[in-house]
Amino acid sequence: MEIIEQAPKRAIVVTPHPDDCEGGCGGTMAKWIDSSYTDIVVILCTKGDKGTGDRSLTPEKLTAIREIEQQNASDSLGISRVVFLRHPDGGLEDDEEFRRELVYEIRKHKPEVLFCIDPVRSTTHTHRDHRKSGQCAIDAAFSFAPNPNVFPDQISDEVQAHQMDYALLWSTEEPDAFINTKGYVDMKADSLLCHVSQIPNPEGTRKRLNDRAVEAGEKCGLEHAEGFRKLDFRVDPLERGF
Ligand SMILES: [Zn+2]
Repeated sequence: MEIIEQAPKRAIVVTPHPDDCEGGCGGTMAKWIDSSYTDIVVILCTKGDKGTGDRSLTPEKLTAIREIEQQNASDSLGISRVVFLRHPDGGLEDDEEFRRELVYEIRKHKPEVLFCIDPVRSTTHTHRDHRKSGQCAIDAAFSFAPNPNVFPDQISDEVQAHQMDYALLWSTEEPDAFINTKGYVDMKADSLLCHVSQIPNPEGTRKRLNDRAVEAGEKCGLEHAEGFRKLDFRVDPLERGF
């Protein structure tokens, strides 16, 4: 078990739908930006255009609403840039197009840390887009972005092959790395509540986030925390299986 104290200079967040990342790592994003000026980019993979029970809302209208909500949520945390990949909700694929997009953003932004959803589950299940986005983000960061022979057409003066340090996977069954989010739980809730179309009970959501911060804190001896599964990308090249 590790408590991460040091904030990186840059991080990238790969979120399958609007609202996933604020609930997953909103406290850490808020803290790192506020206290360490970490430059964080959010990659929103899908349009979130199936996220409603309101049959009068067209997918186009819902996409527009959810992009504004995502921008508002990111602005409230001080995110420097939101990239809208606009894949169809429920249609995310582990294909070359998606991997290429993720590799490009990693090479362009040059982050040390990746945030994404843990794609590996043994006792629970999660949305298909969650699994695809998590696995592709890890593959992009570990296997492809550092290798200039992968998508060599992307390489330029500004866009270089890039080796990241580690990934923090949210929504994991086995958190082993924690960040103290004391003082940032309200900011996390404020950012999540920007997704107005998805939150029917704002006060209930705020309380649930606070309870989760306390539960994560109990696992690592802190008052409030966010817990992740950490993947270290800086392993011995011989162990990488190239
Ligand atoms: Zn989702």
